[in-house]
Amino acid sequence: MSHRTRPCQDGAVTADALDALDDEQRAAVTAPRGPVCVLAGAGTGKTRTITRRIAHLVRSGHVAPGQVLAVTFTARAAGELRTRLRALGADGVQARTFHAAALRQLRYFWPRVVGDEPWQLLEGKLRVVGQAAARAKAGTDQDALRDLAGEIEWAKASLITAEDYPAAVVKRHRDVPAPAEQVAAVYAGYETLKNRAAMLDFDDLLLHTAAALEEHASVAQEFRDRYRCFVVDEYQDVTPLQQRLLDAWLGDRDDLTVVGDANQTIYTFAGATPRYLLDFPRRFPDAVLVRLQRDYRSTPQVVAAANTLISAARGRIAGSRLRLIGQLPPGPDPDFAEHDDEPAEAAAVATKIKRMIAEGTPAAEIAVLFRINAQSEAYEQALTEVGVPFQVRGGERFFARPEVRRAVSALRVAGQGPGGDLVAAVRALLAPIGLIEEPPPGANARAQWESLLAIVGLAEELAAVRPETDLPRFVAELQTRADAAHPPTVQGVTLASLHAAKGLEWDVVFLVGLVDGTLPIQHADGDDEAVEEERRLLYVGLTRARRVLTLSWALARSPGRGRSRRRSRFLYGLIPDHHPASRIPASRSGGAKPRCRICGAPLIGAAAMKLRRCAACPSDVDLELLDRLKQWRASTARQQQVPAYVVFTDATLTAIAEQRPADPAALVAIPGIGARKLDRYGSAVLALVTDAR
Ligand code: ATP
Ligand code: MG
Repeated sequence: MSHRTRPCQDGAVTADALDALDDEQRAAVTAPRGPVCVLAGAGTGKTRTITRRIAHLVRSGHVAPGQVLAVTFTARAAGELRTRLRALGADGVQARTFHAAALRQLRYFWPRVVGDEPWQLLEGKLRVVGQAAARAKAGTDQDALRDLAGEIEWAKASLITAEDYPAAVVKRHRDVPAPAEQVAAVYAGYETLKNRAAMLDFDDLLLHTAAALEEHASVAQEFRDRYRCFVVDEYQDVTPLQQRLLDAWLGDRDDLTVVGDANQTIYTFAGATPRYLLDFPRRFPDAVLVRLQRDYRSTPQVVAAANTLISAARGRIAGSRLRLIGQLPPGPDPDFAEHDDEPAEAAAVATKIKRMIAEGTPAAEIAVLFRINAQSEAYEQALTEVGVPFQVRGGERFFARPEVRRAVSALRVAGQGPGGDLVAAVRALLAPIGLIEEPPPGANARAQWESLLAIVGLAEELAAVRPETDLPRFVAELQTRADAAHPPTVQGVTLASLHAAKGLEWDVVFLVGLVDGTLPIQHADGDDEAVEEERRLLYVGLTRARRVLTLSWALARSPGRGRSRRRSRFLYGLIPDHHPASRIPASRSGGAKPRCRICGAPLIGAAAMKLRRCAACPSDVDLELLDRLKQWRASTARQQQVPAYVVFTDATLTAIAEQRPADPAALVAIPGIGARKLDRYGSAVLALVTDAR
């Protein structure tokens, strides 16, 4: 996101807390102290609403800024909250990730709770997991260790001890990377080794902080005097462990505002659950509950694609979805592109991006989003080849770059500097270390130049909000950001995983690598809930785009390999029939033969013809509808004293439950339903289908 082209994502820098809010948003912003829950879809202004609510509570004197604690899930999102709050004049509000907040609190309370025994933060646990795995005779290669570490993290986030782990995985039908008893042994061994070395991992930070508050009245007392008002963004992705900490923060108070969208839950694999969000109104019956449906982020075209995708979602979470209503003027239709192989896909995307930048789109307004980080490399290479600057995953490591370190130390050494205009001073100080007028040639030099420019951009941003900022204060701000891993916006294209893109937005979004096996990811296959989480991930991706959305995939991994891949099953229903990408690739087409509506391959066999998909392609059957159709068939067959299959065969009912025909024409289009059956059963079947919609 560009702070330079948009000084503040959330309106003008002088925005009043109540400016530009719709009635529902305003209801949440101005609700009196106490529990508030905003349940709403992507781009409806949830983050905007909580920042305005905080500013409003502060301004109206309900709380002091220092008494508010706002939490979210990534450092980047926390930084975004701080930026928006500052623009609203609510400086001094703590906006942190759960982990950063817990770390701070634990450091403060530790001496009182534990004494002067020092501890260290264990940042990467693979080494210790490796030792524990060796003792438990489990696999110790990198992949096995990563899986084991993932299990330990899931268990700790879910408040499951090593002892309870085997029973818990059975109860939750969890896929385990090794026999459950063995994972439990590694988990137990890991805890012992870690504790013996006086180390705390990230989950321990939360556990120990919660315990300190739960078990030490004086700690709880002091904390609760200090913090009075809590706000959680992206609450759908809270884990039981985070919830326990939140409860410890709250005590018996109820000054809690939560916002979230269950249909953007994308971390259940790590223990997150939308349960707390969906149950909030039950837990706090007095809560002000607001639902938002107007989407202010994206064009109606993008919104329509998002609605289509999520309307096919199944399961409990899907029940909470609302249809988004686009508020922006229309834009282009989403574009779909099929490529022969991955390098060709990356090259095409890079070429398109280069053209867009040449035509005036700022690079920072463009993102390429993918399912797994390994997909990034092809795009890094392709963008380098066409000379387009980029940053990977929001540039979390920005402050570790050598040119940035040099810049920060140059600014620090300058002390008071030349005085006067902050931006001019920063520019002058960075000139000797490479901030020249025009971008230098070469991708590397260009990237360094962009970093320096980003620092100037930050100075511009700060000077606009608080003209009194001088050089030492600017250096302090850089330090705060470095500590919080909140980089300034580099003028480059963002390459990010879908997980990392949550909550963010760009004018132009490329969703790449959309093949079955990548999205949904292979290991989700066969597990309906996991496939639904993959669908939500694509939903998060689609809803990041303000205007331009391109979805692409490649039929082979590398040139010359068999074109054996299939585009993502989630694209079914999104690609319009007339679009060239819905053509069957020449190599697979069998002339004018009917083709599978999921993968596009020619259909072979009567059952496939009836379903209009290959037998092996994923079914999108509406199970409840199928059930009702079967009940209806049974009673009809009884009345007419004929065997059930004479009314309709199973295959026909399945086809109806998948295709959900809206009118008689669509119903007779299903093979096996002729004029006679239409006449006899048409209205009854269509009524059942309509009920199910
Ligand atoms: P996500 O679910 O993706 O986190 P969100 O609900 O938090 O989305 P925001 O990021 O707060 O949505 O808002 C999306 C965009 O719409 C932002 O650019 C925001 O400034 C803008 N916006 C929100 N509400 C309004 C409004 N009432 N008028 C104009 N613009 C708005
Ligand atoms: Mg948001």
